[in-house]
Amino acid sequence: MNETLTIALSKGRIFKETVPLLKQAGIEPVDDPETSRKLILDTNLPHVKLVIIRATDVPTYVQYGAADVGVAGKDVLLEHGGEGLYEPLDLNIACCKLMVAGPVNAEPVNGRMRVATKYTNSAREYFARQGQQVEMIKLYGSMELAPLVGLADCIVDVVDTGNTLKANNLEPREHIADISSRLVVNKASMKMKHALVKPFIKQMEQAVAGMAK
Ligand code: AMP
Repeated sequence: MNETLTIALSKGRIFKETVPLLKQAGIEPVDDPETSRKLILDTNLPHVKLVIIRATDVPTYVQYGAADVGVAGKDVLLEHGGEGLYEPLDLNIACCKLMVAGPVNAEPVNGRMRVATKYTNSAREYFARQGQQVEMIKLYGSMELAPLVGLADCIVDVVDTGNTLKANNLEPREHIADISSRLVVNKASMKMKHALVKPFIKQMEQAVAGMAK
């Protein structure tokens, strides 16, 4: 078989937490993306490659088939919309919560609440469900700063321990969704590379079950 399985991963938390699962599935990267500048990493298996990209780009690479499979946070998938992707497996890693947060002891807001977030789709949908009209302010990072400098009344962000909120005098207010990383699969690869993709999903499933023990 000369077909290749390309796996899209992002650096940092997702890479670190996916490597033990890949190892259980018999796949070990040859290089460490934290020290290597390579964007395509070889593995111990000649037909398996890893592409290292930004977390928010993983669904796009997989959607267009530039990678057959990938690991993406549910927060990223909710924003992307999931078009062209199967999401067969919750990897139960990089767990956190998507939340509304705001300043401790804040005064009630008169008029439209200003919400700073990089999760504009998820936030818009959430506040619409609540019947609340808000003004969305798109940011790309450090959302916690926005209420401190008067840019927004609250933020929508992922929260893990809550330490970042606390350190900035913010508190969690509303829970929007539980987040964890998911295995995503290109729809065409699922059909055309069935013989590679199906066993990979199965092995990852067993690895996740093994980790839960
Ligand atoms: P914490 O202080 O533990 O609540 O972590 C919050 C900070 O880490 C926020 O700035 C988040 O953007 C980021 N963060 C926490 N969990 C995750 C995750 N699973 N994926 C991506 N970013 C996260």
